Amino acid sequence: MLSVQVAEDLILNAIHPPQEAETVALTTALGRVLAQPVTSPGDLPPWDNSAMDGYAVRSPDVHSCPVTLEVVEEIAAGQVPCHQLQPGEAARIFTGAMVPPGADAIAIQEETQREGDRVTLLNPPQPGFIRKQGSYCRQGEVILPAGTRIGPAEMAVLATVQALSLLVYPQPKVAIFSTGNELIPPDATLQPGQIVDSNQWALTAAVSQLGAIAIPLGIVPDQPDALRAKMEAAISQADLVLSTGGVSVGDYDYVEGLLGELGGDIQIRSVAIKPGKPLTVANFPQCLYFGIPGNPVSALVTFWRFIAPALRKRAGLAAPWGPQWVEGRSPQTLKADGKRETYLWGQLHWPQGRPEFHPASGGHNSGNLINLARTTALAVLPVGVKEIAAGEPVQILVI
Ligand code: AMP
Ligand code: MG
Repeated sequence: MLSVQVAEDLILNAIHPPQEAETVALTTALGRVLAQPVTSPGDLPPWDNSAMDGYAVRSPDVHSCPVTLEVVEEIAAGQVPCHQLQPGEAARIFTGAMVPPGADAIAIQEETQREGDRVTLLNPPQPGFIRKQGSYCRQGEVILPAGTRIGPAEMAVLATVQALSLLVYPQPKVAIFSTGNELIPPDATLQPGQIVDSNQWALTAAVSQLGAIAIPLGIVPDQPDALRAKMEAAISQADLVLSTGGVSVGDYDYVEGLLGELGGDIQIRSVAIKPGKPLTVANFPQCLYFGIPGNPVSALVTFWRFIAPALRKRAGLAAPWGPQWVEGRSPQTLKADGKRETYLWGQLHWPQGRPEFHPASGGHNSGNLINLARTTALAVLPVGVKEIAAGEPVQILVI
């Protein structure tokens, strides 16, 4: 049985960043990962402009205030100034408008008095009200490195530099299927002994949320020929395969044996983690196969702990790919058996800005997917730790 850390390292070493790239239009780039850096085609801002509504002035004119200047033009946002300011002159200016030649300071409107063509400055203008050309970035500077996921702020940057088409990595393809004689899809009628396949829905959602392409392949019974055919189909069309169930030590658990038969290089047979111990991972030339335990909680905890980092690396995102951790405290004592690294699910709150973990109510049973809903974080009890007392520090994986 491998430690969680060793398993994580093996998985990340077996995953390779994408080697190809494709071009997408800016309009469809949300969520994609840049395959090459984006540089600025010009200075930003492209010209000095005013950060405030007020008056553009020459600082030698306004060292001692009050002082009265002649207003020689008015410059709104989008207009080009047509006058070079001379001694004793000011230009009425609005936020975002180009600063006229000759001006080097902005007197804010609130500290002026206007009478006809003249304006009186009550105080010398503060520096900093001009957004200087090139103060955000210079022409040719890298503004977004390769490996950046495009979110709303990146969209704004890309639109600003008019990057209408972008080189991005292909989205990872993830084949997902469920194994088990007892499983039915949600639209079938439940017969005694059966359960509804929830893992496929959970994993499809989790994969899609990370910006990958989920390929749900349905349910396969615990029958070696059918299972082998499904595994082969999945391996041939995806970068990652996620199957759930059939990796334990029961008589109907065929996945590990079939992985070997299909030529997989088995990297992981079990991990000292709770829930999720029977995780089985095999490397194929074209994909990495995750045989995930069937318990619904095990399936999602395995995803959050091991598969999400693998998917981030496979998507081409810049490191680090691992989960995001915070140290916090819990108002309740957290318990484990100390034998395996134990993950308790619950919610992360931030009272007074401090991270606080609230374990899910109703117990931590790996079959209980009902209290797994609304999980936003996992608290971790390391191997050998049976209890973290209320108020003591605990490591929290943020989902
Ligand atoms: P297994 O890993 O196949 O031994 O399954 C462990 C437990 O998880 C059993 O109680 C299964 O019925 C349940 N289980 C397996 N697959 C699924 C699934 N796709 N959706 C919900 N529960 C499942
Ligand atoms: Mg099973």
